Amino acid sequence: MQEPFKAIVISRDEDKVQSVDINEIGMDDLMDGDVVVEVEATTVNYKDGLAITGKAPVVRRWPMVPGVDCAGTVVESTHDAFKAGDHVILNGWGVGETHTGAYARYARLSGDWLIKRPEGISAHDAMAIGTAGYTSMLCVMALQRYGLKPDDGPIVVTGANGGVGSVAISILSKLGYEVIASTGRPEEADFLKSLGANEIIDRNELSEPGRPLGKERWAGGIDSVGSTTLANVLAMTRYGGGVAACGLAQGMDLPATVMPFILRGVALLGVDSVMAPKHLREEAWGRLASDLDFDKLHTLSKTIAFDDIIPTAKALIDGKIRGRVVVDMGG
Ligand code: NDP
Repeated sequence: MQEPFKAIVISRDEDKVQSVDINEIGMDDLMDGDVVVEVEATTVNYKDGLAITGKAPVVRRWPMVPGVDCAGTVVESTHDAFKAGDHVILNGWGVGETHTGAYARYARLSGDWLIKRPEGISAHDAMAIGTAGYTSMLCVMALQRYGLKPDDGPIVVTGANGGVGSVAISILSKLGYEVIASTGRPEEADFLKSLGANEIIDRNELSEPGRPLGKERWAGGIDSVGSTTLANVLAMTRYGGGVAACGLAQGMDLPATVMPFILRGVALLGVDSVMAPKHLREEAWGRLASDLDFDKLHTLSKTIAFDDIIPTAKALIDGKIRGRVVVDMGG
């Protein structure tokens, strides 16, 4: 650990212009924590794309090693719950935003942020899931807690080709739900059907301003898109249905009316993965081990090299990445 190691570093100059590079850093460049993890695999999430491109103010401390997710092995620990050799997963908690993150050989983290990697999920697969897939599971759990069952009717998934969307389709399908996938990439219809989507709709049907209440088309939804899309998803949700909202790929606004809530008793269920309490994370990861079809996970994910993270992050923000991306650190 004394040797310098490769890391992606985001810097900012005096004029607050951001730049991003692959640099050699040392352990002294990492922020404080009671557990040192050797990173075996990481991934590129939407938030990582925003951090690397600087498209949104995700990074709030410079220089910053980005990367909000990792799977790895503990090499040093003074935390009661972890010892050297433990296999762990890290998702969120501001890592890669305010605390040096996953895009480096080593990450120094708080043990309070870590969970043990469940048996049966490899480091590679944990990152094929990543924050996007773990958030999909949080959304499914929110719909189930609300009481939606497969018999209640179809679930619409927006941003279907994205990380959250593609994993959500796979989970819902395995649990027996009928899935309607909304996408701007209809050429990927066969791929979405292979994940378990029963019907594909063009996202343009949802992205333009619509009526306060529309035809009741689905019992619920998982929305990673926000804005007008979420407003229309709510307006087309059946009486008593629920929509789990976690994203803003179209925009952070919500130009909706209260009509779906007050005339149809529709519920809007907010989902956050970053500060989710540990018990919810452990439940979600346990459920992923049992309720996700790992063959489908492999078809929706691809592996890239560390040096490809920066161009991949840019492509992801341009909506050019399908499914999930895993970065194997090698060694
Ligand atoms: P991806 O980039 O992998 O997927 C986003 C998908 O949204 C795209 O693939 C595309 O799907 C669709 N999309 C993109 N731009 C637009 C647009 N302008 N209008 C409508 N649809 C669009 O990102 P992730 O799946 O990783 O994340 C999705 C969202 O969820 C992000 O906003 C992210 O910040 C958020 N998120 C939130 C979390 C939380 O804790 N609340 C955790 C994880 C993610 P298609 O091509 O099929 O139309």
